[in-house]
Amino acid sequence: PGCKHAGVLRDHVTQQLVDLPVVGFPTRLHVRVPRFTCTNDACGRRIFHASLACADDGSKLTHRATRWILQRLAVDRMSVSATAKA
Ligand SMILES: [Zn+2]
Repeated sequence: PGCKHAGVLRDHVTQQLVDLPVVGFPTRLHVRVPRFTCTNDACGRRIFHASLACADDGSKLTHRATRWILQRLAVDRMSVSATAKA
């Protein structure tokens, strides 16, 4: 992503994400994400992984889970503890 050179597939890592609750139960996604090695010697970055369309890099929540939490807090006026419990 830094030098725009195509990488070589290295391995896969499992990224855990929290998604919307389903009938009151929390949903945890285990997503297999490919990691690549940069072959450009001038590049300072050796290893990088693919970005997900459903979550930001390094985030533990999907975009729709983040939106759901913000809606509970702002629209439904739920407390932080009630939202965390839900
Ligand atoms: Zn690079």
